[in-house]
Amino acid sequence: MTKLLTLPAADHFGVCPCCGKADGHLNIGRDHWMYCRTHRVKWYIGHDCFPDWRGQTAQDWRQNERLLALFDEIEPARPDLFASDDVLLAHARRQRMHSRSKQLAR
Ligand SMILES: [Zn+2]
Repeated sequence: MTKLLTLPAADHFGVCPCCGKADGHLNIGRDHWMYCRTHRVKWYIGHDCFPDWRGQTAQDWRQNERLLALFDEIEPARPDLFASDDVLLAHARRQRMHSRSKQLAR
């Protein structure tokens, strides 16, 4: 079976709508943000979901806040929707059209 897309790791916190990935999360205090560095987008995922903020300092949060300030806040895509049949079909259709236009050019 041919795999058309590499699916991102299932992540119910959402993924970047441009690439279907997320680089991870950053904390500002107890607030968690997911982000995609490539597309400079971020999305808020919630409050006190991960325990790791407890080990961080106010300085860590200030750094995170400065970094996230450069990113646009967006609505994340759901990874299952991103990898839905529609996306796969559209991808296959584009591939077919692409190879057809190459044939016509010959
Ligand atoms: Zn992205």
